[in-house]
Amino acid sequence: MEEQLRSEIIRYIGSHSGNYLPDSINRYFDEPLVGFSSANDPLFSDYKTIIGQFHLLPCELLSGAVSIVSWILPISRAVCESNRKQKELPSREWALTRSNGENVNGELRRHLVSWFAEKGHGAVAPQYSPQWKEFSDTPVGIASCWSERHAAYVAGLGTFSLSDGFITSRGIAHRCGSVITSAALNPTPRISSTHNSNCLYYRDGSCGACIARCPVGAISRSGHDKFRCRELVYGTAPAALSELYGVPQTGCGLCQTKVPCEASTPPDRRVTGG
Ligand code: SF4
Ligand code: SF4
Repeated sequence: MEEQLRSEIIRYIGSHSGNYLPDSINRYFDEPLVGFSSANDPLFSDYKTIIGQFHLLPCELLSGAVSIVSWILPISRAVCESNRKQKELPSREWALTRSNGENVNGELRRHLVSWFAEKGHGAVAPQYSPQWKEFSDTPVGIASCWSERHAAYVAGLGTFSLSDGFITSRGIAHRCGSVITSAALNPTPRISSTHNSNCLYYRDGSCGACIARCPVGAISRSGHDKFRCRELVYGTAPAALSELYGVPQTGCGLCQTKVPCEASTPPDRRVTGG
């Protein structure tokens, strides 16, 4: 079933008529990456400590949960190139991807729940579960009861970064999602050496390019200030641009473009020997 699912996700995004910038041949998203994890993976229990008790186990979101399918929708080059030029606020293309592209991502979540149901399996998209909750003030800052990035990490799709993003083989500029199911799926192996080894800063102390890209100083060598970031992403940016761009959410993503991890896992910088 794993290959069937992978093909279905790739087909769905590749053929979705809404996956295009308006009046353009350029898409919001390139071909998805897909990974699988077991609902019994001990990392989900660890997240109760690492993130907080409020972060739910797969079985708390779906009775009889067996597996999770996670995916990454890499943001296209055309969209990333437009945001590379920005210094204070996101580009129109980036904002359209955040709003309209994310709607396509939401439709994919619902499509997969139906896809599993047709095959006789239970499934739930955590974001559309009645248990879905967001919290503005937790010990780890703003958080929700299910982190798509943490699920993607369990499914071997990448690692975390200094900017609090998730660096995959197709980079940090993406939208991601997941569906919990009662179907049995073989877990994808995790090949990264640590939970943040795809980020150059954590790998060898170099880079830090995202620090300079953030217009509000929300990234430093100590990490990411979620509150400062949120003020721009959900306050300043939509207040300035929503009407102009015609979208409710604009995102920001300046720290995800014009950086070495934009479109791939950056290779090692420090070459030894010779
Ligand atoms: S720009 Fe550099 S330091 Fe920042 S997340 Fe990417 S690899 Fe890590
Ligand atoms: S999304 Fe924008 S505001 Fe948030 S850390 Fe990145 S560059 Fe800064």
